Amino acid sequence: MKTEKVDVLVIGAGPSGTVAASIIHQAGYSVKIVEKLKFPRFVIGESLLPRCMDALDEAKFLPALQEWGFQKKFGAKFVKSGSICDFTFEEQHTPGWNWTWQVQRADFDKLLADTAESMGVPVQYESTVTNIQFEGENSTTTIADKDGNESFIEARFIVDGSGYGRVIPKLFGLDKPSQLQPRKALFAHIKDARRTQFDEPNRITAIVHKPGIWIWVIPFADGTTSVGYVGEHAFFSSLSGTNEEQFRTLLDAEPYIQQRFKDSELVFDPKILESWSSTTDKFYGNGYVLTGNVTEFLDPIFSSGVTLATVSSQTAAKLVIRKLRGEEIDWEKEYMEPTMQGVNVFRSYVNAWYEGTLDTIFFSKNPDPNIKHQICSVLAGYVWDQSNPYVKNHHNGLERLARFIEFSEKTNP
Ligand SMILES: Cc1cc2nc3c(=O)[nH]c(=O)nc-3n(C[C@H](O)[C@H](O)[C@H](O)COP(=O)(O)OP(=O)(O)OC[C@H]3O[C@@H](n4cnc5c(N)ncnc54)[C@H](O)[C@@H]3O)c2cc1C
Repeated sequence: MKTEKVDVLVIGAGPSGTVAASIIHQAGYSVKIVEKLKFPRFVIGESLLPRCMDALDEAKFLPALQEWGFQKKFGAKFVKSGSICDFTFEEQHTPGWNWTWQVQRADFDKLLADTAESMGVPVQYESTVTNIQFEGENSTTTIADKDGNESFIEARFIVDGSGYGRVIPKLFGLDKPSQLQPRKALFAHIKDARRTQFDEPNRITAIVHKPGIWIWVIPFADGTTSVGYVGEHAFFSSLSGTNEEQFRTLLDAEPYIQQRFKDSELVFDPKILESWSSTTDKFYGNGYVLTGNVTEFLDPIFSSGVTLATVSSQTAAKLVIRKLRGEEIDWEKEYMEPTMQGVNVFRSYVNAWYEGTLDTIFFSKNPDPNIKHQICSVLAGYVWDQSNPYVKNHHNGLERLARFIEFSEKTNP
């Protein structure tokens, strides 16, 4: 049976896998990506945050992405019962990127994988990691191709970027349920033919549909738009019919988008995803590191997934390079803590969104511009900037601000 040797095996050709592979390859190490599916493949996660541009830049992916011409994204717009809260990434506290893209992930991920391949990183598609045996830090990984034929890869280190596949946590029993309440999403891509008749037709928008239920509208450059409803399972259980019938009922029930999408052609039958949050105790071990969604995925509301995926991979890749050079790495301090810092800030914002705290802040009558710029930086993905009070005191800060706004609006109606 075939056995190959590489310095680093990367599992998964999503953004976390390709960013890590490219950065490690640039340092002169042999890297191979093994990917279960054939690309292009559908995956959700279409709205990026400016912070991920730094990681894509370090991986040398930006020129190819610029050339492709994805829809540019300059901010985030929240809508509730006719009120609008608009964040522009130009007006933010933390210096950094002030724009990014809205992308169809099938195209985006394929472009990243093709770019990595063109730099010299082999990507083996339709090949599933089925087993890993560690001997100290060295490993032998079993790969099954689509016909079930097995081969092996011996590696000095493994980066697990397998996303929802969660390869290492599942193989070694490391999975842990998330503390977040399980939620469900029903979504589709729509031919958005009437787009130009509406205000800011290319802006990404999050609409509060009902308490705890929100809708994403993510327009793409090719005239199609991703629309998804997210909420607790109970909300969806009141609907009946096929996925498409349920989806169309929901489109008709939201005044903000009803006219734009009424009877529009769908690009594919609406899909359902549910209970996506999960985590593990430790994001590293002897001979491996977990990156991207395998660490922890929270919730789609603030589009944090690809940013946390690429930033964790950027950090991990640099540590793997130092490790291969023979340095001792304090993975807890240099990887786990910064990764959890990002996850924890977003967790506070996700909780504050569903508890209604952010509603009070976003739709307040007289928002303080400085505070808005600080919150805008979090929404741009700059969640490691300790000079930002809404990063440093992410939980208590939001709670205190909301109480202050409620008090002010009661005393000065
Ligand atoms: C409803 C919903 C909406 C979302 N919206 C957004 C959004 O707007 N913006 C955002 O940034 N994020 C969003 N996300 C999150 C986003 O989907 C993920 O965070 C992102 O895809 C993570 O990238 P990744 O590279 O870690 O994993 P993935 O993109 O999932 O890539 C992992 C790859 O590993 C491969 N793989 C799996 N198992 C194996 C195996 N055994 N062997 C080999 N290969 C394997 C898979 O085939 C896959 O290609 C959303 C998530 C949900 C649930």
